Amino acid sequence: SDYRLEQVDVTDTTCTYCAVGCRFDLYTKDGKVLGTRPTDPEKAPINGISTCVKGKFGWDFVDSDDRLTEPLVKEDGEFREATWDEALDRVADGLRDIEDDHGADALGFVSSSKAGNEDNYAMQKFVRQSFGTHNVDNCNRLCHSPTVSALSSMVGYGAASVDHDDLENTDCYLITGSNTTENHPVLATRIKQNVLDGADIYVFDPREVRMAEFEESHYTRVEPGQDTVWINGMVRHVIEEDLHDEAFIEERTTGFEEVKESVQKFTPEYVEEVTGAPPEELKEAAEAVAKADSCCFCWTLGLTEHAHGTENVVAMANLALVTGHVGKEHSGLSPFRGQNNVQGGGGDMGPIPPNFPGYQSVTDDENREKFEEAYGVDLPDEPGLTITEQFLAADDGDIKGMYVMGENPALSEPNVAHAEEILANLDFLAVQDIFMTETAEHADVVLPATTAAESNGTFTASTRRVQLVKQAIDPKGNSKQDWQIVQELSKRFGNDWGYETAADIMDEVADLTPIYGGISHDRLEEEGGLCWPCYDEDHPGTGTMYLDEFETDDGLAHMRAPDVRGPSREVDEEFPLALTTGRVLYQYHTGTMTHRQEGIMAISGENFIEIHPETAEELGVADDEYVVVTSPHGSIRVIAQVTERPGPGTVFIPMHFEESAVNLLTDEEALDPDAHAPEYKHTPVSVRPADDQ
Ligand code: SF4
Repeated sequence: SDYRLEQVDVTDTTCTYCAVGCRFDLYTKDGKVLGTRPTDPEKAPINGISTCVKGKFGWDFVDSDDRLTEPLVKEDGEFREATWDEALDRVADGLRDIEDDHGADALGFVSSSKAGNEDNYAMQKFVRQSFGTHNVDNCNRLCHSPTVSALSSMVGYGAASVDHDDLENTDCYLITGSNTTENHPVLATRIKQNVLDGADIYVFDPREVRMAEFEESHYTRVEPGQDTVWINGMVRHVIEEDLHDEAFIEERTTGFEEVKESVQKFTPEYVEEVTGAPPEELKEAAEAVAKADSCCFCWTLGLTEHAHGTENVVAMANLALVTGHVGKEHSGLSPFRGQNNVQGGGGDMGPIPPNFPGYQSVTDDENREKFEEAYGVDLPDEPGLTITEQFLAADDGDIKGMYVMGENPALSEPNVAHAEEILANLDFLAVQDIFMTETAEHADVVLPATTAAESNGTFTASTRRVQLVKQAIDPKGNSKQDWQIVQELSKRFGNDWGYETAADIMDEVADLTPIYGGISHDRLEEEGGLCWPCYDEDHPGTGTMYLDEFETDDGLAHMRAPDVRGPSREVDEEFPLALTTGRVLYQYHTGTMTHRQEGIMAISGENFIEIHPETAEELGVADDEYVVVTSPHGSIRVIAQVTERPGPGTVFIPMHFEESAVNLLTDEEALDPDAHAPEYKHTPVSVRPADDQ
């Protein structure tokens, strides 16, 4: 009733779960989150009045009794509470000792795609300014880094070229390696609505994901690890049928002849042999994509998490360019980003080894001089170590200490048993988080951070739209916002930034970062959100990118022939099944938030493996029976779900669970050579019924 509504506080803010970027009103009372309701639709153009189960009900974690509320320091192997001053001094000493003894490059820093843009900007500034190293990275490395490496070299930016309006109004979708319905639920609903209104949809995936089951979808099952092959096959068919966009290719691209030549061997028959895609389905999809007035090419980690993920994205971008569907309204390249702020905090803000904020390369003298002057330090002209390289270097003893903000590599890295061992062996580890994660257990100091409900800042959605996150309740206990913690730490290295609010940080970002040049909290409040590039305060932001030219040196898009490689390790007699990993609707990432939702855990509380009925029969495994899954790296015991979702010979395990973690099975050395993303989407395994049921 109105009377009851008067008793609560209402704060319009942005969802903390996925990068679709839904906005809503958060209802709070006496420091507790009560729930969400639709906000003024003007402030929420991406979702209007819709939210998914996580955005609507996923807020219990904020008030969880497990929240970290005091700084903790480890003494004789046990944590005890400490004051902020003691804890921060200890972090500063721990990092400084390693720097003094071994140099700054013996330190590794992990930033957070879940934290705000301002938090991530502060983190990369702290690392570069206080230590003069670029050894700062984040979990974007483990998911979309191949997207970034391919797209930035081909079209300019490692980001979606479309905005939400394009995605809702295109005439055709090609979706691959994306479980859109479960991972980007509100977007999936919008896509389905557009399809019901007449758009075409083609889904290529090793797993019959829910979008593939949607009755309007044309679904083609392909073998895992062979995406470059079927995409090249589509490029070939488009050219063969003379359906390529000659004028666009001529005026706006380079590399067409090289691509044309390289795809010759990918005949429909060859594609069928390697990937299992029936020739008729491949041809129909290729023709539909090429003939459509507009088309969005959509993918997530099924395309990227391979030792050849960059090449997969190159192939996909070639297909989009050959058909003339980039730099045009309602058309373009659309990697769906996973976590709420992986686009902004994980990339745009520069917590990545090769780039300062706004994708300004550290190897470019002009960029480097700008940041050297702004930060008052000399900086290396070579990129630092990626997160996967940091772990390998730590294993070799070259990285001695780490600082991890809002990430849980003890569960998300490939071959986690080894990752945990590495974390345990570090000389010094500090973790800044909202819960005592598996990573934090190994830390010397743990610093309590706030959740989005207690923080001010911004998140950048998949479609490059920067939106405000607003503090609705006071921080729990003695927790602080991530940027405040980093600012305090930075003072201990002689750098007093003097930010009073997150808005001050965004003003500095705007000063140093051309693509964020016109973005300020005041403008975001007034205009509801802005898509970058937004160069100055009069610039309206950019919805569809590259309408006139690409952001490359010559303004043209650069196609190239992808290097076609299959999985780094094929299945064999000992490990005859291909394991692919992924996510489920109710869970989020390594579960630090969703595992604290009783409702969610009642529905989705246990890890499982999906096995095709034919494969199950061969293995002698029945539905609901426990099985042991073994890879060259480890074994786990999980319950079997016999289902036709994966194809025969392929099995699927989600990545959210610490018990029987799937990343005990994955390989930390099978990495994409350009982006260093691990091969989560193809691990050879064997499966047998467990002795104990
Ligand atoms: Fe939040 Fe994503 Fe769900 Fe929207 S679709 S409510 S952004 S989790």
